Amino acid sequence: MEFYIGWSHSDAIFCDYFPQCPVLISAIPDNRGGVKRYKNKPSKLILDCGSVFYVKQKVRPPLKDVFDIQLSLLEDCEKEAIVRMVHFDEPLLNKFSLSERYMAIERTLFNAYEYFNIFHKCNLPKSVQPMGVIQGYDQASIEFSAYELIKMGYTKFGIGSLLFKHQTQQIEMIRRAADVVGPSNLHVFGVTGIPQLSAMVDIGVSSFDSTRPTMAAAFFQVFYSRPFRTFFLSESRAKPTSPRLENPLHCECPVCENDARQILVPSPREYMKLRSIHNYYHLLRTFNDILENKKRRSEHVVSNVLRTGN
Ligand SMILES: [Zn+2]
Repeated sequence: MEFYIGWSHSDAIFCDYFPQCPVLISAIPDNRGGVKRYKNKPSKLILDCGSVFYVKQKVRPPLKDVFDIQLSLLEDCEKEAIVRMVHFDEPLLNKFSLSERYMAIERTLFNAYEYFNIFHKCNLPKSVQPMGVIQGYDQASIEFSAYELIKMGYTKFGIGSLLFKHQTQQIEMIRRAADVVGPSNLHVFGVTGIPQLSAMVDIGVSSFDSTRPTMAAAFFQVFYSRPFRTFFLSESRAKPTSPRLENPLHCECPVCENDARQILVPSPREYMKLRSIHNYYHLLRTFNDILENKKRRSEHVVSNVLRTGN
């Protein structure tokens, strides 16, 4: 299971510190040319369509324009990079009536169909594949959306619009989608919580993405792991009861190995970027520990089964 870091043009370049780091980039105009600045190009990349950005605009851009931005980002990558390209989806955010929701799902499926055709006309290498976006507000609509995408010919899927749902419900939806398309073909968009991470490891989804290391850094927060903890910088305006940090703790991330005081400097942005690298290191370590634990648990089960067999 892979952790894709959500990246935008003004963020730290995570691959320059962690060469293996998978990256998710949205195809919005400001991100065009962004990969040119990477010293280490991403070896695994999801090119999202930036629908959350475009939905805020008065008019949606033509599908071809978004696809062109995706292609230009793709051109800046190494040829052997494993890439998933995501079609435009109509987010379910702020859609409350049943008919509004149904229309959004239909719209997304229509886009998926059109995108699949455009994508296949391009004859891209086999390492580049389109990703269908599964949407839904309950189990039946998730199932409907997933089966429609399978019929179109999609083999890689992402599940989105989970931002504002309760954690248990989010996990149920992911499980339902995984049952239909197979967990190893499923990516989960925009994950922040550790409980969701654990559940996704149990389900065995292929990957997820998060911008949490950058978001937290921008809000003057620093992460540490083993156990996972969040602190505010002492200058932060967060509630006085929030745990604050005057001095950095022991950390072996590439930033702290150089000078750990840097992560506690609130601004300018260069320090926020260093803080996001440090935060990524700890969220990644927490995620790897969850993975490792799961592996150990299943090995334990297997060895117990073998022992009983003898
Ligand atoms: Zn650090």
